[in-house]
Amino acid sequence: MSDNADPIHDVLVIGSGAAGGAAAVHLSAAHHDVCLLERSDGKSLKPCGGGMAAAVQHWFPFSLEPAVEQVVRRVDFSWCLQDPVVAELPGDAPFWIVRRERLDQLLAEEATNHGAVHQTGVDVTHVERHGADWQVTAKDGRQWRARALVIADGSGSPWPQRLGIGPRGVNHASTVSVRLEGQGSLDDGSARFEFGLVPQGFAWAFPLAGGVNVGVGSFIGRDELDSNAVLRQLLPDLGFAEDAGERQHRRLRIWNGHHCLHGDGVLVVGDAASLCDPFLAEGLRPALMSGCEAAVHLSRWLRGEQTSLRSYSSAMRERWGESMAWGRRIAQVFYRFPGVGYQLGIKRPTAPRRIAQILSGEMGYGDIAQRVIKRLLLQRG
Ligand SMILES: Cc1cc2nc3c(=O)[nH]c(=O)nc-3n(C[C@H](O)[C@H](O)[C@H](O)COP(=O)(O)OP(=O)(O)OC[C@H]3O[C@@H](n4cnc5c(N)ncnc54)[C@H](O)[C@@H]3O)c2cc1C
Repeated sequence: MSDNADPIHDVLVIGSGAAGGAAAVHLSAAHHDVCLLERSDGKSLKPCGGGMAAAVQHWFPFSLEPAVEQVVRRVDFSWCLQDPVVAELPGDAPFWIVRRERLDQLLAEEATNHGAVHQTGVDVTHVERHGADWQVTAKDGRQWRARALVIADGSGSPWPQRLGIGPRGVNHASTVSVRLEGQGSLDDGSARFEFGLVPQGFAWAFPLAGGVNVGVGSFIGRDELDSNAVLRQLLPDLGFAEDAGERQHRRLRIWNGHHCLHGDGVLVVGDAASLCDPFLAEGLRPALMSGCEAAVHLSRWLRGEQTSLRSYSSAMRERWGESMAWGRRIAQVFYRFPGVGYQLGIKRPTAPRRIAQILSGEMGYGDIAQRVIKRLLLQRG
């Protein structure tokens, strides 16, 4: 079935998560005709801790606060549930916990306020060039056409590889998340990171209003993550039953090198572009950043002010990739020798402030990497 009545849009955005929503907001605010296609009906929980630097607010002309449920002021670190380190976050680098479904909804609503069309329940199964346009087909046969395409359908996206953009081979973190009702022993405004229980990774607990997002992520291992073993120990420590909550397993694409993120009239953003931080799994900020950047470069391209979208790939390399190249090196050393990493990295008096500065975007991994890696390698020997 073909929806012949549908006009040729300026831009089709596949996926209305953080990255697609951010792109749609700015493109529609710049008066482009945008159609946002989303598979989900918005009723299911999204596996995401929701931790995000408040600094991302600067990228949006409307308040993101309706999605914010907690402002984190204190972070507790532990090694195998012991050896605690407490970090009070500086007031100038606040860290938000957002309810993820609400954030995505807020972005999509804002885009529709500017005239974008938001269609849910659309499972995109085909993407192809049709003359000078892009044609997208859904599982149920509906079709859409546009001059440009933004690929924002997350870690499972097949399109970058099929279209020859982004990394040829992808690297994944294995993750499990649990959303729990009640806060257990976690205080309002405090987040928890546990190293030691998770091989080549860490576990986290982020507070929501009346709930907690607990997650486990393993970053460089090839072995299957035994998240149940981790949660059996971690959940009672957080004041919950060891089998509490429903578990969602996800493979999360992580940053694995500088890549071309554009083609002719097409850009890839967010997890689909493998932007997620390979050390701390921070994926929301790069998703929002890439969505905003995509809109800037695509808007100029649509107006004929530039003939290529190369500037988008360059901007993401400069704003995000350069830091991730160092983040990846830190992850490779830290997660191979996590005990040393905890003692020499996390337990250093300056570490919590550095982590807060990294997560807020005030600092990049490049600013600290050489010292950190040298320290870890020297102590290991
Ligand atoms: C367990 C877990 C915890 C995390 N915690 C944090 C955290 O605390 N802080 C942080 O910064 N990052 C976190 N991340 C990473 C972060 O969630 C991602 O990097 C972020 O969601 C990327 O946004 P996105 O818009 O690129 O992708 P997504 O949020 O995955 O959005 C993609 C959208 O595309 C839609 N879609 C997929 N396929 C199709 C299709 N065929 N047709 C149409 N639509 C489709 C999906 O339904 C989805 O809505 C976490 C990830 C996981 C797995």
